[in-house]
Amino acid sequence: MKELKNFTQSFKPASYSERISRLEELKRIVETHEADIVTAINNDLNRSNYETLMAEIYPFYKEINYFIKHLKVLMKPHKVKGNIATFGSKNYIEKRPYGFVAVISPWNYPFQLGLVPIVGAIAAGNKVILKPSEISTNTSNIIVKLFQPLQEFMLVVDGGVEETTSILNANIDYVFFTGSTKVGKIIMKSCAENLIPHTLELGGKSPCIVENSANFTVAAKRLVWGKLFNAGQTCIAPDYVLVREENKEKFVETLITEAKKMVAKKERFTKIISQNHYNRLLQLLQGEENNFIYQQKIEEEQTLGLTILSATKDSAIMKEEIFGPILPILTYKSAKEAVELSHSVCKNPLSLYVFTNSKQDINFYSKHILSGGMCVNDVIMHFNNDYLPFGGVGQSGIGSYHGKYSFDTFSHARSVLVNLNSLRFDVRYQINDTLIGKLKYFLTK
Ligand code: NAD
Repeated sequence: MKELKNFTQSFKPASYSERISRLEELKRIVETHEADIVTAINNDLNRSNYETLMAEIYPFYKEINYFIKHLKVLMKPHKVKGNIATFGSKNYIEKRPYGFVAVISPWNYPFQLGLVPIVGAIAAGNKVILKPSEISTNTSNIIVKLFQPLQEFMLVVDGGVEETTSILNANIDYVFFTGSTKVGKIIMKSCAENLIPHTLELGGKSPCIVENSANFTVAAKRLVWGKLFNAGQTCIAPDYVLVREENKEKFVETLITEAKKMVAKKERFTKIISQNHYNRLLQLLQGEENNFIYQQKIEEEQTLGLTILSATKDSAIMKEEIFGPILPILTYKSAKEAVELSHSVCKNPLSLYVFTNSKQDINFYSKHILSGGMCVNDVIMHFNNDYLPFGGVGQSGIGSYHGKYSFDTFSHARSVLVNLNSLRFDVRYQINDTLIGKLKYFLTK
């Protein structure tokens, strides 16, 4: 790919003013073409404007505004203390751009998941290569078209596996990947070949535990909202519910009431991205009809109604990330069993959701389930706060981003020591076998 080769020829870290003007240029393009971008995304997913603006466009503006406001401070070297061995020197940490950053993004939030990391990478002074998903074609096409004029610092490569492979084999310095765990492993292997640092934002089955003391109406409302948002095609969607055996009947009753209300109020139902993805979901439901608790019928093409069903850890639906508007309900007898169930489904989920009014429950689940993020009495909303790092752990990913955490991700934290000591006293020349023991206190404190 000639364009890629040319783009990755030479790199110079961008100055503060270059970074700001790049961010402003990016923002201006999106503001000018906002309506077209929203239409393209909605054509891929039949979304409502509300979902697209809230989940794709506003997070982009929020991220860019954050950096325009805070970049100067973020770029400042951070002074640190010295010790007797570094006496007379200045010690600081400086954030250096890596160089060429590749951002490989998925189809489920096809604009935001490419552009938000790009903002952080540009703010950190890098040049960026964006590879949007080949599945959300309308969005990819408009991204290619709109950002074409930014080739001085940003290149969009359209395509699938072959193009991603070319990017990975180009002269790149950092890879930021969002997608499935399966492809994440391929990306990590490829990065390992050349020791390229990387971030992996992967999937995972996020449990939602509804405890005794929870407000069932609040839990039901937020769960249904989380499952219906983007038709459940959200990496941090509540994947399944764990409820105490004795509370199941009452909770399911509340869930159905809230589901009916929300479904009746919703103006538009997001479609499943492709016929293949739609068929996969139908397959997961096959043979489960007797376990259905609630099923919303929708006549639109490639659109699945909200389906709530009873399940066990051995159900087919519990073996893979659902990524659709299907909500399995499992029961447990003790908090310990809830933890064991969660671990058996996915050791490190991307998110952990706990509905409870007990501090003890919060502490217990937080201590026993290590997840990328956690919400108590809510779902998904932690993603919306730029002051929180967003990312997975273990099976659900490596690294994090958003706001300051993006800046850290896309910068190498270089430790710098500047020795200004031209004095005669320099401790290292004074030490000998006799003194070393006596200086232990000063050298180790
Ligand atoms: P995917 O892994 O199939 O594709 C992601 C990207 O990788 C695409 O750009 C694709 O072109 C590229 N790709 C696919 N196969 C490849 C290969 N063999 N070699 C190199 N590149 C390849 O993911 P998807 O289906 O687009 O997205 C859904 C997945 O993404 C879900 O698992 C979801 O949980 C996850 N996801 C995670 C987050 C997060 O922030 N952690 C956010 C959204 C989606």
